[in-house]
Amino acid sequence: MLKINEIFYSIQGETSYVGYPTVFVRTTACNLRCTYCDTKYSYYEGEFQSLDLILKTIESHKTQFVCITGGEPLLQKNVIPFMATLCDQNYKVSLETSGSKSIENVDPRVKTILDVKTPDSGAANSFLMSNINFATSSTEFKFVICSEADLEWSENFCRQHNLFEKFMVLYSPSYGQVSELWLAEKILQKKSSARLQLQLHKYIWSAETRGV
Ligand code: SF4
Repeated sequence: MLKINEIFYSIQGETSYVGYPTVFVRTTACNLRCTYCDTKYSYYEGEFQSLDLILKTIESHKTQFVCITGGEPLLQKNVIPFMATLCDQNYKVSLETSGSKSIENVDPRVKTILDVKTPDSGAANSFLMSNINFATSSTEFKFVICSEADLEWSENFCRQHNLFEKFMVLYSPSYGQVSELWLAEKILQKKSSARLQLQLHKYIWSAETRGV
């Protein structure tokens, strides 16, 4: 069983899987409280579902891509074998986690996205440093940038731990706090090796709202 907040089918808006039609499985509960969190409804709301039922719902959407997100998925120990089962069934599985819980036992076939919390997230120092040792070549490190200080901190973190050399590093502007243009220019100015990541789904749905 897993406590599930929601399962929905949409376009992947982030990571190297951006743009693919994807089934999102959002688990209930999070151990953090980020200032910019847009999924507060996942903290408590949800229902326990059997793994069979979750698999059937995923199958009904006829896509290869499954994203396990939260909340914090790794708070539920059954998530680990469930992701392995999905990999066995040839799904392309991604996991979005803050990295505050160990990824040691995550199946290496899973693309793990470690969302390292910056100081302005309000959840600074939540990242479990040992997770860097469990990262694989497909692991992606994501930083949501809220300010110039966050950008400096992220650059230092990546350089100190050689992340740019070993992994894909994604910088996302914190929605409503810094602009895409500001972050793009800063990445260029600093000659950073990070990849600018925009939340594609927000553009799509706002375009739809405008009737474009
Ligand atoms: S880790 Fe994610 S779900 Fe949890 S508080 Fe932060 S943004 Fe929200």
